Amino acid sequence: MESLINRAASDLVESKYAIALTGAGMSTESGIPDFRGPKGLWTRQPEAERRAYEIYGKFQQNPKEYWEERLSGHSLLGDLLRDLGKVAPNPGHYALAELEKMGILKCVITQNIDNLHERAGSKRVLDYHGNAFKLRCVSCNARYDLEEYDLQELRDEGGLPPRCKKCGGIVKDDIVHFTEPIPSDIAEESEKEALKCDLMLICGTSAVVYPFANLPLMARSHSGTLPSELYGTGYRTIVKIIELNAEPTPLTQDGISDYLIQGKTGEILPQIVEQVKKAS
Ligand code: NAD
Repeated sequence: MESLINRAASDLVESKYAIALTGAGMSTESGIPDFRGPKGLWTRQPEAERRAYEIYGKFQQNPKEYWEERLSGHSLLGDLLRDLGKVAPNPGHYALAELEKMGILKCVITQNIDNLHERAGSKRVLDYHGNAFKLRCVSCNARYDLEEYDLQELRDEGGLPPRCKKCGGIVKDDIVHFTEPIPSDIAEESEKEALKCDLMLICGTSAVVYPFANLPLMARSHSGTLPSELYGTGYRTIVKIIELNAEPTPLTQDGISDYLIQGKTGEILPQIVEQVKKAS
């Protein structure tokens, strides 16, 4: 284990453009259950999974009713926001923010909607599946903080669904629900990052949710053709893909990752940062 932590630290120090990909396993130590682990939300409440698959269809059919249900105090989303308000970033989130501050990590692409990377101080975060504390215009992708709209007042005045302040389009919560496409701006930017990086640190994801799980495959397949403005011409760079997870994943089993550091993100990431400090 120790030698893998040292190896990850020296790979990070040598990298020119390192990025991190994160999943629910990043936040379990903050008290947010993952979906598919033994204590996962779906494992414990299969009914919640069925309901989660219906959310986006409801929005598409009738955005006004969707919002009315959400604001009624009996929605999955309302419960989620209450729960997320009570948790805090853990040492793993702070470690990634520190790597960014040191100039090593260039961005975090997260599947998590919990806003914990941002709260820990990470500046460049691509919320691949959205952010529970934001709203998004479904026409122009403009994002708004929740506080920018008085949703209760809109409901009382019969003004739902909320409308975009820039283009007048319908505004939805930013969370990307099951069956909903990834917002085009985030999808494009994430793909660019996967094609640009020479190191991908993948933390706490089962890597079975697509299209997110394509990002490591893209990084692996572009090895050797990295942008010349960063890496110089005629210089073959091999992308390093490091996994940090409590258990092996399909990326481990299919040899997409170079190595797996098996353990807890909240414990291993701070140790990696310590080694990076010693090595740089
Ligand atoms: P997942 O539940 O499918 O997998 C979690 C992975 O993390 C598993 O491989 C598990 O072994 C690992 N893990 C759990 N705790 C860990 C720890 N402390 N240290 C290291 N590894 C740990 O999660 P996923 O791959 O992110 O995909 C699930 C989807 O669910 C995502 O789309 C995400 O948007 C959503 N989700 C988000 C949150 C959140 O915002 N915190 C929580 C649950 C689910």
